[in-house]
Amino acid sequence: MTKKTKKGKITINRERCKGCHICIDTCPNDMIKVDEKPNKKGYSPAQFKETVSEGEKGCVACKQCATVCPEVAIEVYRAK
Ligand code: SF4
Ligand code: SF4
Repeated sequence: MTKKTKKGKITINRERCKGCHICIDTCPNDMIKVDEKPNKKGYSPAQFKETVSEGEKGCVACKQCATVCPEVAIEVYRAK
């Protein structure tokens, strides 16, 4: 039996982001990293990892990152 994994992606509004990095700690699949280039407010914003390494699950559109973000900077999309 094969289990179908729901795939997703997120967008992060880097100017809205305050660089708290809660989303990075929250993502169960380690799909968010720190963007070292600061935004206009001087924070290092979170950035979605566009590539999935072998053995990693990738984004599953679980929305946990969007739920914890205090700045409502993350939108989650479910891939069909
Ligand atoms: S939780 Fe929101 S504000 Fe905090 S780093 Fe992630 S996107 Fe930025
Ligand atoms: S939706 Fe879930 S899997 Fe995708 S980046 Fe956010 S926390 Fe990670």
